[in-house]
Amino acid sequence: MLERGDVANSWRRERWDSLRLLTPNWQSRLPGYPYHGADADGFMTMSEVVAHITGFAAAISAPVRTHTAVTRVRREDGGYRVTTDGGEFRCRSIVLASGAANVARTPDVRQALPKEVESFTAFDYRNPDSLPPGGVLVVGASATGVQLADELQRSGRRVTLSVGEHVRLPRMYRGRDILWWMEASGVWSQRYDEVDDLERARRLPSPQLVGTPEHATLDLNVLQAAGVEIVGRLGTIRDGRALFSGGLRNQFALADLKMNRLLDTFDDWARTTASDAEVSSPERFEPTRVAASARLSLDLRNGEIRSIVWATGFRPDYHWLEVPVVNYRGELRHEGGAVADAPGMYAIGLPVLRRRKSTFILGAEDDARDVVADLARYLAGGSCRA
Ligand SMILES: Cc1cc2nc3c(=O)[nH]c(=O)nc-3n(C[C@H](O)[C@H](O)[C@H](O)COP(=O)(O)OP(=O)(O)OC[C@H]3O[C@@H](n4cnc5c(N)ncnc54)[C@H](O)[C@@H]3O)c2cc1C
Repeated sequence: MLERGDVANSWRRERWDSLRLLTPNWQSRLPGYPYHGADADGFMTMSEVVAHITGFAAAISAPVRTHTAVTRVRREDGGYRVTTDGGEFRCRSIVLASGAANVARTPDVRQALPKEVESFTAFDYRNPDSLPPGGVLVVGASATGVQLADELQRSGRRVTLSVGEHVRLPRMYRGRDILWWMEASGVWSQRYDEVDDLERARRLPSPQLVGTPEHATLDLNVLQAAGVEIVGRLGTIRDGRALFSGGLRNQFALADLKMNRLLDTFDDWARTTASDAEVSSPERFEPTRVAASARLSLDLRNGEIRSIVWATGFRPDYHWLEVPVVNYRGELRHEGGAVADAPGMYAIGLPVLRRRKSTFILGAEDDARDVVADLARYLAGGSCRA
């Protein structure tokens, strides 16, 4: 196993200070390695995640070669030549486990940002002091965007949040964590070949969730009540003005509809599995409130906004992969983790790789079992040699 940094590198170096997992502690189980602490329903801080993953690596004596960056992978003699900053390897088979979120995905309009406004992504942001004083425009209202908007607003900033397509979820439903429902009902284990529109499922934004000791919901109603101004999707920036879509009402209605459909699925599951007795009664939540008149444009030159935080998602970075297996969007072409047109090459940890839960920590176990079974069949006695 080659790792450019240390074990749990992304959690050590690529996350903001206050971040906690949005999955409850008991869901951070790894193969044969459950959560060991006393707060199963709590949410890990970054140092706790690092300790958990490092503990797992030690428990299984993972053969990790740290501080070894892969700089090049090429096909060679029916296998692969892997160049690193610490030497070369040749192997018949290779697993790309380099992560789904190596770099921030930002829209092209970023280029049109006037010089008066400083630009940040989730990788540059550590805490509110990372930004210059003054108002902030957060673009994107998925897990990252709502969490950063909330933190910045609490720090006393004026925050405007630009909202496009999003996934609304309550933290708790019928007395249980919403992610308990995702797992118990089987929704999270739905297989990639059973999903109606796989492309779409793989692009689905992360849910509006935060892990806090209070198990609080963090949706747009909560943010609006806290004073965050909600505007529509950022369309373009022209002559120093950000122009937003006017379709907020529809966006909100769609997100509310989808949330309610998912809650219906949970209710049906609870009824048919006689789990109803273990949880409280079904509930529904207030629809997302639509402000009387959301702004359609914002002057980015008049000093009102001093920084923009792009919370517009992440993407993998395969610049070192010199095998033509990446599409025009920079995503790996694969079938359930078997990389297309590259025999012996496999991937893990990508969105809906084998199941809806594939990019979550708890998704690793089932996916790894399947991918390794395929790989073992392929190798059928081969070996990887340094
Ligand atoms: C902001 C954020 C919050 C998240 N919150 C949660 C959460 O609450 N719960 C949850 O279950 N999941 C969460 N996730 C998803 C989480 O990233 C995955 O669950 C998990 O980290 C995936 O592990 P991984 O090993 O596949 O990828 P990563 O953790 O990204 O690990 C990939 C590793 O590959 C290394 N690497 C990359 N390129 C190279 C190279 N060229 N050479 C050598 N090494 C390389 C990196 O240094 C890194 O250590 C979150 C993701 C993000 C971005």
